[in-house]
Amino acid sequence: MKKILIVVLLPFISLVLSGQAGITESDSGVLRAGFAKADITPAIPVKLNGYASRKTYSEGIHDPLTVRAVAFENGGTRILLVSTDIGSYSAEVFPVFQKAIMDKFGLKESEIFLSTIHSHSSPILSLNSETGDPNNIEYTRTLQQKVLAVTGEALKNMKPVLTGTGRGSSPVGANRREMKPDGSITLGRNPYGVTDKEVLVMKITGEKGNTSGILYDYATHSTSLGPQNMLISGDVLGLSAQFVEKILGKDVITPAFAGASGNIDPWYRVLPGFNTEEGWIPEPVLLATMLGEEVVHVCRDIKDVHPGGMIRTAFAVLECPGKKSSDTDNPSAQPESQTVPVNITVARIGDDVAFVGFNVEMLTEIGMQIKSGSPFRNTFVITHCNGYSGYLPPAELYKEGGYEITSTRFEIGSSDMVVRKALRMLYDLK
Ligand SMILES: [Zn+2]
Repeated sequence: MKKILIVVLLPFISLVLSGQAGITESDSGVLRAGFAKADITPAIPVKLNGYASRKTYSEGIHDPLTVRAVAFENGGTRILLVSTDIGSYSAEVFPVFQKAIMDKFGLKESEIFLSTIHSHSSPILSLNSETGDPNNIEYTRTLQQKVLAVTGEALKNMKPVLTGTGRGSSPVGANRREMKPDGSITLGRNPYGVTDKEVLVMKITGEKGNTSGILYDYATHSTSLGPQNMLISGDVLGLSAQFVEKILGKDVITPAFAGASGNIDPWYRVLPGFNTEEGWIPEPVLLATMLGEEVVHVCRDIKDVHPGGMIRTAFAVLECPGKKSSDTDNPSAQPESQTVPVNITVARIGDDVAFVGFNVEMLTEIGMQIKSGSPFRNTFVITHCNGYSGYLPPAELYKEGGYEITSTRFEIGSSDMVVRKALRMLYDLK
């Protein structure tokens, strides 16, 4: 009888023992990751995102649009990061996509980073038959199916991985708040203004060291093309991802994320189109190639890839004070009592990588503050993530004025609340 008990108990004892060691084991348990991508180039003419003056349909394709997804998992906790070659997931469209992802895959809201690269040569998303163009609504429905498909595929593709991180620098983005002689601020180029030049890269390899994907984060608008352009394009960030994938090979998938770039435009901005003069490299292609080459340089320099890494995630909605309508003639300004929601999503992988997503166009000073205050060595600030509440400027720029200040819905001081909350959430993941 005793013998049988021992035999029966032995597996339990060894389970308990490995369970004790499992505190570290689950912390550094097997990290898995999977990638997927799909073409999302519109098959029909669509209304283009980003410039209110542009009213007619797109007139062709310059380069294809793509949705790229990466899923991570460790110990049952997951992170899904989606990069979409689109302008933004509006406050109307985002909840529909989010719910579909949560319902189908059982992901929590804290595990989802649904982001866009903010291309201004991509379709407006809409599901509203009263305000949206029928072609754009049809496009958005198709996009939803494709986002679900790449999510499913990325989750299915997950296998044990090694990861490493590195950083470079790029001059492709420039501060666009140019001061005129009379002291007013106009949209232009301010080479002396604050600019976050960091190119942050995470490399993910299989157990044998073959690169399966890279994630990168850079702060720039994708607006090298202006309102006169009627061709579909991923613009700077989209074209840079196409370049990186071409160089690294067809099996490598490279989700790109727009950092805090509310006041950062590409060095060449709002051009009428792709210059076709013989011998001329069109500016969007030139800038995207410069950025893409830096991403590849950084990726190739990452020699230290390591296994494991615990995952933790959190999500919060921070209600910030809305700008009082008396402060501005901007019709989007809120009556005094209203607040504007900031969706903040945070996640960590291992000891030195964190992602922090915001549903705003955050000005670059704020992103730099979050990166420097973060307890994680490598903090990916992902804007245009999980909805859209417009520009979030730092308090010190309200006095200067300019486009981002007149069009923001946030009352002065909101950015300090967002920085404090995001840093608190990042510290709580530690
Ligand atoms: Zn913008």
